[in-house]
Amino acid sequence: AKSSGGDTLCFFDPIMLSIVTARATMEADIRTGIYQQQFLLYYQPQVNSAGKLIGAEALLRWQHPLKGMISPADFIPLAEESGLIIPLGTWILKTACQQLRAWSSDRQTASLTMAVNVSAKQFRQPDFVKSVLSTIEEIGIDARKLKLELTESLLVDDIEETICKMNQLKAHGVCFSLDDFGTGYSSLSYLKRLPLDQLKIDQSFVRDILIDPNDAAITRTIIGLGKSLGLAVIAEGVETEAQLAFLQSQDCHAFQGYLFGKPAPELNMLRKLVSA
Ligand code: C2E
Ligand code: CA
Ligand code: CA
Ligand code: CA
Repeated sequence: AKSSGGDTLCFFDPIMLSIVTARATMEADIRTGIYQQQFLLYYQPQVNSAGKLIGAEALLRWQHPLKGMISPADFIPLAEESGLIIPLGTWILKTACQQLRAWSSDRQTASLTMAVNVSAKQFRQPDFVKSVLSTIEEIGIDARKLKLELTESLLVDDIEETICKMNQLKAHGVCFSLDDFGTGYSSLSYLKRLPLDQLKIDQSFVRDILIDPNDAAITRTIIGLGKSLGLAVIAEGVETEAQLAFLQSQDCHAFQGYLFGKPAPELNMLRKLVSA
């Protein structure tokens, strides 16, 4: 490789080559992983003010045969870029709906809701609405118990198309939560146009809620905003009783975080809360 000329892009740059190779390997690994069923869903409890289980968020896990458990943060971006998030997303939705149906058919868990993360690329697919509706239909769940978590950047990308798709799903009862709220680019003017049901306070605000007055102020504002727009508000990343007490004092009534349970295989989650 020729490395003399400052900014010259060098074709055989060994570092570039190894990055490209690593990406190609991971992409192939994701393909194999889908085929060999190495992906699984964990569920994290969502609770109300009384600490009662009200639902769960499905979180993707990858049990890699050589590398062990891989965090979604480490492969979702690549799955997005490569388009593999489409088959993966289909599998996630189907699996979460099957779990939801199982809960619905048991008296103890009948009222639980299921939150599912939707990636931008997945949402932008022309047949996204059709695919969600046919999954709901085929598996036979109550659409009102399914909550799709969307992020701000996804929503603003093409607001008219977004509103149209959300409305079609809403007409069938599907709910929407705005994930990582406050970290993106939301403008209040479009927030009121979106048919949302819930705002999710990002864990980065919750983390320092008792230490950083700015985070406390942002949290208070989000809760107030939710109230004036008629939206439910849930706080994520709640780890301590003190954080919980503060959030409750600010009139937040739904919570998710390690304090109530880490993401875990379904049975662990239920054992903790339902039979308590
Ligand atoms: P997210 O949707 O914001 O999910 C919340 C993340 O916070 C999860 O990380 C969860 O395990 C973690 N968490 C929950 N409670 C606490 C807490 O009390 N303290 C701390 N420090 N962390 C907590 P995870 O499972 O590693 O997922 C990371 C991200 O990957 C998710 O962020 C989401 O953006 C993405 N992701 C996960 N599953 C899926 C999926 O099925 N589809 C898509 N498209 N994205 C997913
Ligand atoms: Ca989420
Ligand atoms: Ca989040
Ligand atoms: Ca987050």
